[in-house]
Amino acid sequence: MGDRNALNKNAITSHNFIICTGAKTHVPQIVGLKKVLPGDPGWIEDEGTPYHTYDTIFDELGNLPARLAIVGAGAGGCELAQCLARLGTDVTIVGENFLPRVTADVRNLIFKKFKEEGITYLKGKVEGARPQTWGGGKGIGVALVNGKEVCVDAVLIAAGRKPALKTLRLDKAKVKFTDEGIIINKYGQTSTKHIYAAGDCVAGEAKAASKSDEAGKADEASEDDEIVEEHDPGLQLTHYAKLQARNAIRNMLFTMPKEIPDIIPEVIFTDPEIARAGLTEEAAKEEHEAEELMVLYRKYDTMDRPILEGTTNGFIKLVCLKTGKILGCSLCGPGAGEMLAELVFAMTHDMPLAKLAESVHAYPVLGFALMQMAEDVALTALAGSPPPCMCCMPPLQGKKNEEEIGKFERNMHV
Ligand SMILES: Cc1cc2nc3c(=O)[nH]c(=O)nc-3n(C[C@H](O)[C@H](O)[C@H](O)COP(=O)(O)OP(=O)(O)OC[C@H]3O[C@@H](n4cnc5c(N)ncnc54)[C@H](O)[C@@H]3O)c2cc1C
Repeated sequence: MGDRNALNKNAITSHNFIICTGAKTHVPQIVGLKKVLPGDPGWIEDEGTPYHTYDTIFDELGNLPARLAIVGAGAGGCELAQCLARLGTDVTIVGENFLPRVTADVRNLIFKKFKEEGITYLKGKVEGARPQTWGGGKGIGVALVNGKEVCVDAVLIAAGRKPALKTLRLDKAKVKFTDEGIIINKYGQTSTKHIYAAGDCVAGEAKAASKSDEAGKADEASEDDEIVEEHDPGLQLTHYAKLQARNAIRNMLFTMPKEIPDIIPEVIFTDPEIARAGLTEEAAKEEHEAEELMVLYRKYDTMDRPILEGTTNGFIKLVCLKTGKILGCSLCGPGAGEMLAELVFAMTHDMPLAKLAESVHAYPVLGFALMQMAEDVALTALAGSPPPCMCCMPPLQGKKNEEEIGKFERNMHV
């Protein structure tokens, strides 16, 4: 793609570049932990408490610690907690919030399951981790800011990952970035427009849009191109990285710029599995009038496949407009991620519930329940009373809602 620069035999020139350097474990400031050098080239040999990350813990499979503290109660921390607990380790998860990115109904279900499996959750921020004697035995004392403490044999850090940018000298190329990652516009361009970025090294949404977003795909970096410094962390997911990269490459090569779609599925591989996409019920209520919305809810213990398999701990929740448009979904239970694929397909292509109802699903696959939920909406509209699975759905009644029923009928035959 590029020529070697005469000044530096290792330098490459190109019309476009794309930065995809990913992210590395973020180790929060914890007094007593071993330190790593900025830029993360390796360990400093100092006297601190050693710790594991997702990179090292599975090297210990033959010799897992009896007691483990996992610092970080997000998706990664919880997945590792359940996995290691099931392998026989006594796990305590420590974090300021338990699964902060999921809704309360999902969080409660997982929390209960973890408790049943003997996983302990200590709420709070960790401030120190030091060798200690505890009840006659030796261990590592993990101390929280709020005074709580737990004694363990090893510590695993799962407190998120930060973009791997430190050695790139991005400032030399005038590529703007924050602690959360490289700032890109919706076409994948950085502040230096022929340099794109994708994946875990990219920051998430800006708190406000940059001017280049409004102006369309930019050819040149302009002085007044306002880049917002405050960003959310990016979505660090394999399929999102792939999507951003595909989009960036398409925009490099073709003149019609394309944007990243809004509907991005997220799955957390706990047991039960957590899956979501689109708007939560709360977010939908912020964007729409309450009377425009319906929330469909179905528990796994009313679904034949989970009943047959004895895996009835879970639910499906669909947030929809009364026109049948699916705004978002949240699922928790075995196979939730598989059902999510169908819902993401429907949402991406703006297919209303009626389309789901019309698509024949084999009995008793899990997705059969989705088809039934969509059918129930149509039947409800016709009958004027809610079927049992729609606990949250506002009932459509008699003549008062003739208009609504009309809309459903129309949707059923689009
Ligand atoms: C434990 C764990 C579990 C995960 N599970 C899931 C999951 O179930 N589902 C999911 O969707 N996502 C999951 N992820 C996230 C997923 O792995 C990332 O989102 C994805 O790998 C991001 O791809 P990327 O190309 O941006 O970065 P990476 O895959 O990290 O690739 C970046 C590459 O760039 C290289 N690199 C870095 N700096 C330089 C440099 N200066 N010069 C040259 N090369 C460099 C790195 O060595 C690396 O090879 C998980 C992540 C972790 C850590």
